[in-house]
Amino acid sequence: MSAPLLRVENLRTYFHTAEGVVRAVDGVSFTLGPGETLGIVGESGCGKTVACLSILRLIDPPGRIEPDSRISLRDRDLTAASEGEMRSVRGNEISMIFQEPMTSLNPVWTIGDQIAEALRTHRSARPAEARRRAAEMLRLVGIPNPEQRLDEYPHQFSGGMRQRAMIAMALACDPSVLIADEPTTALDVTIQAEILDLLARLQEQLGMGLIFVSHDLGIIAQIADRVIVMYAGQVVESGTADELFGRPRHPYSEGLLRATPRVGRRMRRLSVIPGSVASPKRWPPGCRFHPRCPYAWSRCREDVPPLPGEARASRCWLEEEPARRTGGWDELALAEDH
Ligand code: SF4
Repeated sequence: MSAPLLRVENLRTYFHTAEGVVRAVDGVSFTLGPGETLGIVGESGCGKTVACLSILRLIDPPGRIEPDSRISLRDRDLTAASEGEMRSVRGNEISMIFQEPMTSLNPVWTIGDQIAEALRTHRSARPAEARRRAAEMLRLVGIPNPEQRLDEYPHQFSGGMRQRAMIAMALACDPSVLIADEPTTALDVTIQAEILDLLARLQEQLGMGLIFVSHDLGIIAQIADRVIVMYAGQVVESGTADELFGRPRHPYSEGLLRATPRVGRRMRRLSVIPGSVASPKRWPPGCRFHPRCPYAWSRCREDVPPLPGEARASRCWLEEEPARRTGGWDELALAEDH
């Protein structure tokens, strides 16, 4: 296996508020190889987005990346980089696209000027060269008549076209890593499928590493090589997409899969994971998933389960006591039916 492009080790991002410390990301580690797609999955509030923003150091006070967190791009320690160095990393070596394109696109600038701006800033491109490259990028992401559309404003683009324009902007400087945070959630299913195809094709063409964040397991199954499942600020399971979707080991991953409709599987009704993610100000003691877990026993409420390794691992005491895996989600569903 080739050396990782990006390595995140023990990332902890805490928000030091007047009401207490919010441990939004709490000891997350993963790697990303060149040309690889890493899926990050979990419910809202589990720390996926904060982890991605931390990689780019886009955390505003009172948020802070805590001291022994380490983020390296190839051999470079980004946690030790100055703010000026980070400005040259963002949008250049590491780019990010968001769920809502209007958070990245400036409504009063033309699409062409916004793509060209990245090229002028990071590549010192002259105006004519930047415009030529901007048109090339729009063509690459499948926007028809790119030369003409360069002079249009974001509001003149449809939702799907805006998303494509944002991808063009993110890729303008040939980043080594692209972080896509729920980039298709706001789109209808046809456009969603087109954007996923586009990302997969561009990734193959350009050889970049892709981090794809979603709460939608169907999408992650379609696009990811490897997956990490996050819950309550931590990674609770990791593995290849085949391992994770074929044989999930953590009860939370099991619950998420059961809550995902699948073509060809008859379901009486769609399962849900009862309850919601606890407040990051007060994560539950022991295993953070224990208040919602159908297998929980006394050990889970007291002792913190470790995540042994990064490749294929589950942060769960069932790894040590597999005989306790009885009943589970099926029993819970039956109990709810009566
Ligand atoms: Fe459930 Fe216990 Fe495993 Fe946590 S450690 S996921 S509570 S079985």
